[in-house]
Amino acid sequence: MKITMIGAGYVGLVSGACFADFGHEVTCVDKDPTKIDALLGGIMPIYEPGLEALVASNVAAGRLSFSTDVTAGVAGADAVFIAVGTPSRRGDGHADLSYVHAAAKEVGAAIAGDCVIVNKSTVPVGTGDEVERIVREAVGDTHRVAVVSNPEFLREGAAIGDFKRPDRIVIGSEDDWASDVMRQVYRPLFLNEAPILFTGRRTAELIKYAANAFLATKITFINEIADLCEAVGADVQDVSRGIGLDNRIGAKFLHAGPGYGGSCFPKDTLALLKTAQDNDVPMRIVESVVQVNDNRKRAMGRKIVNALGGDARGKKVALLGLTFKPNTDDMRDAPSLAIVQSLIDAGASVSAYDPEGMKVAADLLPDVTMADTAYAAVKDSDAVVIVTEWDAFRALDLAEIARLVRTKALVDLRNIYRRADVERHGFAYHGIGMP
Ligand code: NAD
Repeated sequence: MKITMIGAGYVGLVSGACFADFGHEVTCVDKDPTKIDALLGGIMPIYEPGLEALVASNVAAGRLSFSTDVTAGVAGADAVFIAVGTPSRRGDGHADLSYVHAAAKEVGAAIAGDCVIVNKSTVPVGTGDEVERIVREAVGDTHRVAVVSNPEFLREGAAIGDFKRPDRIVIGSEDDWASDVMRQVYRPLFLNEAPILFTGRRTAELIKYAANAFLATKITFINEIADLCEAVGADVQDVSRGIGLDNRIGAKFLHAGPGYGGSCFPKDTLALLKTAQDNDVPMRIVESVVQVNDNRKRAMGRKIVNALGGDARGKKVALLGLTFKPNTDDMRDAPSLAIVQSLIDAGASVSAYDPEGMKVAADLLPDVTMADTAYAAVKDSDAVVIVTEWDAFRALDLAEIARLVRTKALVDLRNIYRRADVERHGFAYHGIGMP
């Protein structure tokens, strides 16, 4: 099949490369010429494990190409995926649909044959109806078109594996012909027996938000339990294990930490609340989740200040990890952003090291001194803080760090160290949710 991907970001590029790997002929179109130029030169515009090799092999096989030209990209396509950003709209928290609507208009104007338009961006209920209206207005009766919803569930950092071996594929379609096209698009995964759920378009749109809001709730729940553990002398890691072994609960997303961040949960929980408000259906649980999570990030800053002895003025804090999770360079809504701000507000100076995130982070955090290694970052610091659980931080040479720092305090916001192992080197250890 011939597939066009509008948007070559974290979702569009990974999905496009994976579809090409399935044997489809894929063109990724992005309006950002620097991204397309990089891709044409074999350079990945984002960091995602395995992506460079996957792109290179499919480009070499002639199945994957890149362009800034929507018209050429869309011509002859059986399916056009829209995978553009849907950030929070400034001011009111609604999903900003301007990119989706603009893409729909451009695709509509470029369609030159029968074509299914597939919305992969995360969009509020009813967006598919509007995309269909926009596309039909441009296409008229000349070609057969249908709009389906196919929300994406991949996780950055594990995106290729998630795309090729998904827990499920959700397809929201109001048209049998479009559903058949989608069966062809995902045929290799049908053959692997990936669960595929066909549903109405609005339902598919809501599934994505319900999934993210549920996961955000799970994280926030365990974070509050962690706070209670600290107050009553219990251990949240054991609580997580103790409840997660119950199959009805499940062990995933029960790791207490600095609060969720990233390019999806914060904006998607907000957008779901806006949909709920617009429909007069209060969602008090998700409202609380958003509020508790917002408070948590600055609370982490206060936790670090406490580890400094209650006064941060004139002290130096070293952050290890800046991205919202490991194995990505994505800094969107990373908890580190709020943590840095609260430390600077408290009078501390901040140094940092992140294996992949520093290029983007340097622009967002101009007051932070970026270091070349974890060891350079911790030099002369009064507290070392693990913000992101990169593998590289799981086996740090603590003896060396003890020699480099000014004050031996380790704040482990991801609970990746055992207290005894850290204290053996003379550090005060501050984990999350432990006595
Ligand atoms: P992104 O910002 O990385 O990529 C979006 C790309 O679209 C950009 O490169 C931009 O230049 C391009 N673009 C915008 N308008 C365009 C147009 N009219 N024509 C061509 N290109 C255009 O965003 P992302 O992280 O890939 O997210 C895309 C969507 O997928 C969002 O709705 C997001 O919520 C959803 N999603 C993201 C993830 C994730 O982990 N990042 C996971 C699941 C779903």
